[in-house]
Amino acid sequence: MLGQRARGSGPTVFVTTMLHGNEPAGARAFQRVFGDIERNETAVHGEIVGVAGNLAAHDAGRRFFQDDLNRIWTPERVSALRAQDPAHDAAEEIEQRAILAELDAALGRARGPFIVLDLHTTSGESPPFALMSDVLRNRPYAFALPVPVILGLEETVDGTLLEYVTELGHCAVVVESGRHDDPASLDRHVAVIWLLLERAGIVASDDLPDVAGWRPSLADAARGLPRVVEVVQHHKIKPGENFVMVRTDFVGFQSVRRGEVLGRDQFHEHKAKHDGLLLMPRYQPEGDDGFFVVRRVHRFWLWLSRRVRRRGSWLRFLPGVSRHPTLARTFVVRPPARWFVLQMFHLFGYRKRRREGDVWTFTKRKERL
Ligand SMILES: [Zn+2]
Repeated sequence: MLGQRARGSGPTVFVTTMLHGNEPAGARAFQRVFGDIERNETAVHGEIVGVAGNLAAHDAGRRFFQDDLNRIWTPERVSALRAQDPAHDAAEEIEQRAILAELDAALGRARGPFIVLDLHTTSGESPPFALMSDVLRNRPYAFALPVPVILGLEETVDGTLLEYVTELGHCAVVVESGRHDDPASLDRHVAVIWLLLERAGIVASDDLPDVAGWRPSLADAARGLPRVVEVVQHHKIKPGENFVMVRTDFVGFQSVRRGEVLGRDQFHEHKAKHDGLLLMPRYQPEGDDGFFVVRRVHRFWLWLSRRVRRRGSWLRFLPGVSRHPTLARTFVVRPPARWFVLQMFHLFGYRKRRREGDVWTFTKRKERL
């Protein structure tokens, strides 16, 4: 626990930091914001909580020991952890249990909307950006930040805290603020925390310190970038692959062309499969995300998706599509599943895709509690 302050009934902003031990900027940013709130006795309407994630890995100068602490939040892993004797916890399970206890307690106290803000930094140079699950309730918070918003990460990454919180029916926004050791990453996280507290109504606009200076500096760092993008490729590193980027100077959001070689291992070259923008090129030894390629999402799509979001039952009329016999909010898609079908599922908010043989299933996050 980094700090907790509550007054009256209102929203909760639960800030998680350092889920990766080598990313301390978020924890320092929370301490700075919390220190200001305490020193200035800033009026708080609702609750603000901050926790630091992988403390043991941080102390050892590591990202994690056994498990990536941001990949073990599947419902199965969390249930297993709750049932397990704490004496048998592995390194990251000790940390996860501590976060879960704070999260459960904060959810128990919550009397209003509950928003998790999960703060990260990247190994390569990158402008700041936000990630969210594509449910409408997340949009006001993610779009309150003057940075690009990434959709569709949950299609390819399992077990994130973001996904766990979203599945519980609450709001979650992840922010990647820049390179791990860039001092600007810390400043941007400070700005992000204040802006989210303002958007949630926990701190009044008039009570934000020096806000005139912060909002533009965050916006300047993301100037010229698209407002919303979606993931079209995720290069996941397989066990035993010695993955490296082919250049040392790739940066987040740089344009890449289809067919361009981005990474390689001892067996293969790994190319961009689409024209788009490169995201999170990996320049650290740990973790299994090689790189992502993202593509701009148009405003019209966002508008349209808001309008149609509650009419997903229409999807069953698409060719090859039927409701899943047992799973809620899930459709089964049989071949020939075309690009058009995939786009329609995205529009209606169905982004969790699984594949068994040539059959796909698409699941939507709960829009409401
Ligand atoms: Zn991280």
